[in-house]
Amino acid sequence: MNKTVEKIKQLAEAGDFSGNSVEEIFARCYKAVEKTLGITPFDEQLSAALALNDGKMVQMQTGEGKTLCAVFAACAHALNGGYTHVLTFNDYLAHRDCEWMKPVYEEMGVSVGCITEETPRDERKSLYQKQVVYITAKEAGFDYLKDFVCYETEEMCFPKPDFAIFDEADSILIDEARIPLVIAGDVAVHEDESTAKVYAKIGEFADGDYEFDEDSRNIYLTDNGADKAEKLFSVENIYGEKNAGLLAKITACIKARDILKEDKDYIVRDGKIVLIDEFTGRAAAGRVFPGELQPACEAKHNLKITSRGRIMGNIALQYFARLYPKISGMTGTAESSREEFEKIYGILTEVIPTRLPCARVDRPLEIYFDKTEKRKAIIAAVSEAFEKKRPVLVGTESIEESESLAADLRKIGVDCKVLNAKNNFEEAGIIAKAGERGAVTISTNMAGRGVDIKLGGEDCSDKEFVESVGGLLVIITSMRESSRIAQQLRGRAGRQGDVGESRFFAALDDEIMIKNDLRRLCGRHFPSAKVEGAITDKAVLREAERVQRISEGDGFDERVNLMKYTLIGEKHREMTFSKRNALLDGEYDSDLWQKNAPELFEKACGKFGENAVQTLENKVLAALLNEFHSDYLDYTAYLREGIHLTQIAGRNPADEYNIACEEYYESAAESLPERMCEKLETLLKCDKIEDYVIEKPTGIYTYLLNDLAEEFKAKPILLNVFSEEDFAEENSAKSEKTEEKGEKQGFFKKLFGKK
Ligand code: ADP
Ligand code: MG
Repeated sequence: MNKTVEKIKQLAEAGDFSGNSVEEIFARCYKAVEKTLGITPFDEQLSAALALNDGKMVQMQTGEGKTLCAVFAACAHALNGGYTHVLTFNDYLAHRDCEWMKPVYEEMGVSVGCITEETPRDERKSLYQKQVVYITAKEAGFDYLKDFVCYETEEMCFPKPDFAIFDEADSILIDEARIPLVIAGDVAVHEDESTAKVYAKIGEFADGDYEFDEDSRNIYLTDNGADKAEKLFSVENIYGEKNAGLLAKITACIKARDILKEDKDYIVRDGKIVLIDEFTGRAAAGRVFPGELQPACEAKHNLKITSRGRIMGNIALQYFARLYPKISGMTGTAESSREEFEKIYGILTEVIPTRLPCARVDRPLEIYFDKTEKRKAIIAAVSEAFEKKRPVLVGTESIEESESLAADLRKIGVDCKVLNAKNNFEEAGIIAKAGERGAVTISTNMAGRGVDIKLGGEDCSDKEFVESVGGLLVIITSMRESSRIAQQLRGRAGRQGDVGESRFFAALDDEIMIKNDLRRLCGRHFPSAKVEGAITDKAVLREAERVQRISEGDGFDERVNLMKYTLIGEKHREMTFSKRNALLDGEYDSDLWQKNAPELFEKACGKFGENAVQTLENKVLAALLNEFHSDYLDYTAYLREGIHLTQIAGRNPADEYNIACEEYYESAAESLPERMCEKLETLLKCDKIEDYVIEKPTGIYTYLLNDLAEEFKAKPILLNVFSEEDFAEENSAKSEKTEEKGEKQGFFKKLFGKK
């Protein structure tokens, strides 16, 4: 046994633990757990807690008691003067875990609190001052962003990040890592009719003039379409640098006309386009379509553009995590992502063995000829278990799949419950009952994570019966990009040495198999005619397993590649945010007025008093930095649309992107003095300093931008079109026949034309 664990238990036994060494604090905590919760921490839990305290990623199976492990590490940190955020998978778990562990913290003299989406803003500041806070990464990230649009330090609430313990860490740090949290505000804009003018002309574009690319969700003009655009708008080369804005407007208008559907993607309310959140199906006030798409959509409905939502700040969860100087995490599935945790977050993974041997039987992958055959096999497996009253948990890929499977099952009299991750409080209650006699629960991977499934119901009263029919049966309906997902689902059965079983289904025509060309991998082994029942050819099974490894590797590479595009934005955000904070904190005073308009400044001081002018100057600059940052975000979004990449033949697009961002940031920063001086002139026109109005957004909204994640996901597809030969081809094409539309060929064609 681990020597430190042994020592902790000795100290606890002897009651010898008044100091603040990790061992002593852990020993005290050990006793506090016994006293308050009436359970004795297992050795495995102490080992895991030590690893968390060391800033590691801990792999510990579902049901082994990770919630308790975090308490030890958080207490050790608190009693040494630090602040810990335990970042949970959802609000339900933040609330549950905080309430559950509160007695231990109280006994330890450590303050603890919980923040959920429901927590009012004015209570948050004091909650954040607790030594330990249970909160989702999403809520914490939003609070971080909201501080960026505050104008008084008293309104700010997010503390300096210190130590984060991520629960269900792989989900946040890998699966959702790229999802940006966004803060947007309604700001006044000057009316601009240019998009409406473009929209009025796109009636000319019909089938054959453009194509829609499913992967990148973008519209591309065909050669025909490009010719048409050049005629309609009287430009020489629509792909030329100076027409990039026009091209973006044209494709956005076509997309608004053909792809975006009223009442499905958005509604029109009070003269405004209001997006519908694909996940909740609710109207999402304040959320805007990216780039040119929003004005294009307004043009489609003849709406007046008076104010519009502007993105004021964003941060991907991955970068939010990296704000904490110390992070650690725990999950049932860390081992297979060891490399990623180390490379991206710089943390090592430690695997904690299960306390009791695992009695779950994991059946190998079963592969079927097509989705129909697969569905038949899944239904047979569920109904067989249902007849025996054996509980079944089915993990599907999507809400739609869950619903169609449930419909099929109900047709044959199998009663089932469907979870779709819409209400995690309600669903926790359903998942907790998934181990009851005869329960059939269908869920996506998202729903119910973190909630214990006890055999024979929450009180285990019927455990013997459920054990007699084999325990919980987990059915996984398809292979996902990462093997972790299946591993997580399998882990729902066989908790703490329980009996259980898991089955894993796939079909030859599942998307992942097609995407990775299983047919080619299998060669002659690929069935040429329909096969009834499971495919037994070992070669096919072996290649299907290979698909899993390929897609896992691709996913990782893709994420690393994306970082080349996102790091720069993070650097700039950090620079702008910290400058703004320093201004409002009084750590730093703006001297832009003094330096650039000394006479006007003197005049203002004479009129309003120097202190008042300086305070206002700081706030005006803070507000200007918000504008500056919004412009920056607009610009980088525009860059990522790839239009500017047309310029960069022969060079690495990621480097070029970074250079372009850097240049923009610097040149925009150079315009700050002038913009500040304009404001000083406005101030001088006021009678009283209070009359000067700092333009602030009239409403603030936060949301998760799934679209942007999609956009980022599509990026490597765009990048891959830039092969060395393309650059060479393009360069020679340029020098030889510049007057020809050579640019439409070569990589431009690949970028904007057909894929
Ligand atoms: P995990 O997060 O690892 O899936 P939980 O923290 O939700 O696991 O705990 C699973 C179950 O194990 C809970 O019902 C909890 O009460 C129980 N448990 C945890 N630690 C102990 C312990 N030391 N002794 C007895 N039961 C424990
Ligand atoms: Mg848990």
